[in-house]
Amino acid sequence: MIPLDVFGSESLAADLLQQVRWRDGVECPRCRSDRTAKNGSYRHFQRYLCKDCDRTFNDKTGTIFAHSKIALRKWLFSIYAFLRFKTSIRQLQTETDVTYETIHRHVERCGEALDAPHLDLVGPVEIDKVYVTAGKKARDRDSRSRSVASPRVDADRTRATSHRCSFS
Ligand SMILES: [Zn+2]
Repeated sequence: MIPLDVFGSESLAADLLQQVRWRDGVECPRCRSDRTAKNGSYRHFQRYLCKDCDRTFNDKTGTIFAHSKIALRKWLFSIYAFLRFKTSIRQLQTETDVTYETIHRHVERCGEALDAPHLDLVGPVEIDKVYVTAGKKARDRDSRSRSVASPRVDADRTRATSHRCSFS
């Protein structure tokens, strides 16, 4: 389960994105170098400097959330509710104050991508890994000995871990 706190706090949502996205270490979205250094912050999001291409980026750069005016916590809530509880787009519109079209474009296509493991989608945000990481975190609290987290999605979706949602 995603800790519900993240839906009410942009900085906790940013922390979650940071954990999920860089679970294998920070990597420059432009040149793929892992020679990066922390470089201040952008709102709630950590900023980095790439030592190879000299570009800066932050936790959101290159993800579907990057240019969204909508708070990350609202996106996480929408994606979570849509995938886990099959909440309708209309209901999400009411809950989040985001237009139907915008939610539909971002969330439903992400859901479809996860339901269609044959699609070869490439992109920076792996929605199903949100579940993996969040599940592991909860288990770590209970027992450090259990190291491998199993995703809280069904088996078909689990096999789609390499499939990603990509749209801007
Ligand atoms: Zn770089």
